Amino acid sequence: MAAVDDLLQELEARGIRIRVAGPGDIRVSPPEAVDPELLERLKAAKPELLVALTGCHPCDRCGRFAFVEPTTCYWCRTTPEASA
Ligand SMILES: [Zn+2]
Repeated sequence: MAAVDDLLQELEARGIRIRVAGPGDIRVSPPEAVDPELLERLKAAKPELLVALTGCHPCDRCGRFAFVEPTTCYWCRTTPEASA
């Protein structure tokens, strides 16, 4: 979780606000303050960010839907997974 704490501190230092708009949906403002490199880091840390911001764990397979415990959502549990 240390990397996420660093990321959140960096956002604050840059004056960027972050919020969870919905399941698996993180918004930052102002968007023009987020450069592509920072955006990639935000995307990479998204599951951890969701946990840090909401106290919820996203589905461990699709990253959508949040749960109190780390788990797999109903959709992923009931959808067969093909390997490629
Ligand atoms: Zn899922």
